[in-house]
Amino acid sequence: MTPGRWDAVVVGGGVGGLTAAHALRGRGLRVLVLEAADRCGGPVRGGALVRDDGARLAVDVGAESFASRGTGVADLAAELGLDVVAPSGRSAWIQAGGRAFPIPAAGVLGIPARPWAADVRRAIGWPGVLRASADRLLPAGRVDASDLGALVRSRYGRRVTERLVAPVATGVHSAPLGALDVDAVAPGLRAALAREGSLGGAVASLRALAPAGSAVRGVDGGVHRLVDELLAVLSGGTVVGGTVSGGTESAGGTVAGGTPLPPAEVRTGARVVGISSGIASGISVGDGGSGERSGWVVRLADGAPVLADRLVVATAGVTDGLLGPAPRRPAGSDVRLVTLLLHAPALDAAPRGTGVLVAPGGSDPGRPAGAKALTHATAKWPWLAARVAGVFGPGRHVVRLSYGRLGERTPEPTVAQAARDASVLLGVPLAEAAVEASDAVRWAGTLPPPTPAYRAAVAEHAARAEAVAGLALTGSWVAGTGLAAVVGHARAAAAAV
Ligand SMILES: Cc1cc2nc3c(=O)[nH]c(=O)nc-3n(C[C@H](O)[C@H](O)[C@H](O)COP(=O)(O)OP(=O)(O)OC[C@H]3O[C@@H](n4cnc5c(N)ncnc54)[C@H](O)[C@@H]3O)c2cc1C
Repeated sequence: MTPGRWDAVVVGGGVGGLTAAHALRGRGLRVLVLEAADRCGGPVRGGALVRDDGARLAVDVGAESFASRGTGVADLAAELGLDVVAPSGRSAWIQAGGRAFPIPAAGVLGIPARPWAADVRRAIGWPGVLRASADRLLPAGRVDASDLGALVRSRYGRRVTERLVAPVATGVHSAPLGALDVDAVAPGLRAALAREGSLGGAVASLRALAPAGSAVRGVDGGVHRLVDELLAVLSGGTVVGGTVSGGTESAGGTVAGGTPLPPAEVRTGARVVGISSGIASGISVGDGGSGERSGWVVRLADGAPVLADRLVVATAGVTDGLLGPAPRRPAGSDVRLVTLLLHAPALDAAPRGTGVLVAPGGSDPGRPAGAKALTHATAKWPWLAARVAGVFGPGRHVVRLSYGRLGERTPEPTVAQAARDASVLLGVPLAEAAVEASDAVRWAGTLPPPTPAYRAAVAEHAARAEAVAGLALTGSWVAGTGLAAVVGHARAAAAAV
């Protein structure tokens, strides 16, 4: 074995890179993960709520759910011995026009299929219903599809756009309506509109294709446990159950036949600055037996280069030298997440369901000081409610406030401000004294949704990589945002090298 040479090197220790490393190790390969930051997992991260008396509970401080389409995340969770859990089934609410109301059912990004339905009428009033009903009379071609806001306004009018679509779509994508490309955030909507002749008909037809039931799932203990368990398993820890890809029996960390799987090495603080093929660098990577063959040379900002037979790149920006410049996505808004443990028995009744999305714009008198969303986590996740009651006692609730919209300065709210915002959004008086513990995290430059042009450019870059033996690209920059997209893609990438 050549010193510094690995069967496989993974660049980037986010959930994409770690998932790929887990699958590669499951094939019995010696794997090295290189992560630039001082911790792995990216936005899949746990924090702790710690009360003065020492009572403590780990909670998600970044990603907290995953889309249930596909089985990639559920399969990974099962391999890691984690239980996938469903949310409570309560609805979320919207705060707009000085009022709070449940998000109407049967919509796409807040766009209703039937603007005259009772739950929509409650949100937009009769004037809004009358204007939106014009959608059925307008010719299908009368649409401004330059962005999502323009499209909805041109068919349904201002009230639907501002009270329903703006809070939902800008909450989901952390970007203003005018920056949301219709094809990027609502694929198929424009074609359905042309086919069905109205926006309402288009939304109804897209909804009919979507599976029934809740579209998200969580993990008992929090989705950050995916990263915790991946790191434990990679370091040689025991997998509780299941098998990994390639037919390898991973229970107890052994390959079939009882040979222990080699632990993977995960190096943090290891920033990759360049990659080249062994041949191009004039370096031959010995295979320890049948002679010499080329591999990959991975150069680090600090320390000696590492050599690899297989390379999985799970982050943007390091393959330019090899494949030509990759497209860059403009950075989105910074997001600040403030998690509060509240002693507030009035919240037992979940007065705003699973939480509240706040309409953008400053004219709303009920609008809190800049929070764009609140998740009532204990109303959303039954496992969390049970854990919080067990650790902190009855009447305790976890809420998470989210701050930061693209184009606006991201506030740095104090705990007292966050409690005031929670009070406004939940419609329940909450004194600062109700806060028993808190945690705040800032996520820099969250990514706006990719445009079709970006996706096409990335697909071209990825196709260049596919033509190179022993190299695979993965991670959200090629797979798309979200754990469902990233995990499934990473497993396929690991299988391909
Ligand atoms: C606040 C927040 C909340 C979210 N909530 C959800 C949610 O609830 N559900 C959901 O499905 N998705 C959610 N997402 C999105 C989801 O978390 C991401 O899509 C996913 O975690 C991306 O994983 P990744 O491995 O592709 O990227 P990352 O986690 O970004 O990993 C890439 C890694 O590469 C490292 N790196 C970069 N450059 C180099 C280099 N030169 N050398 C070595 N390492 C390098 C980075 O430090 C990073 O750790 C959320 C995102 C954010 C920001």
